[in-house]
Amino acid sequence: MGTVKIPCRRCLIEGLDEAEVMAKLRDYIDAVEPDRRTPDAVYTRRLAVCDGCPELSGGMCRLCGCFVLYRAAIVGNDCPGIPDRWSQTE
Ligand code: SF4
Repeated sequence: MGTVKIPCRRCLIEGLDEAEVMAKLRDYIDAVEPDRRTPDAVYTRRLAVCDGCPELSGGMCRLCGCFVLYRAAIVGNDCPGIPDRWSQTE
């Protein structure tokens, strides 16, 4: 059985400039089905929490490795922190 190599998220964006990364993120967010998308007001609050969080690094959450712009856009997602930092504002 062969070994499947899965690139890390950082590797997937290696070589892209910030504008290209943001464009890809926007494409992913735009592709989220409307019934799975976080309402705008909640999305804004989630990102404000991330913005003040010590686990945020380069737009990614150090606890889960997600880009928070994308993770926060899906209504069923939660913050991986213990306690969940988003739930304190929702
Ligand atoms: S731990 Fe939660 S609040 Fe902090 S960056 Fe990650 S998702 Fe955002």
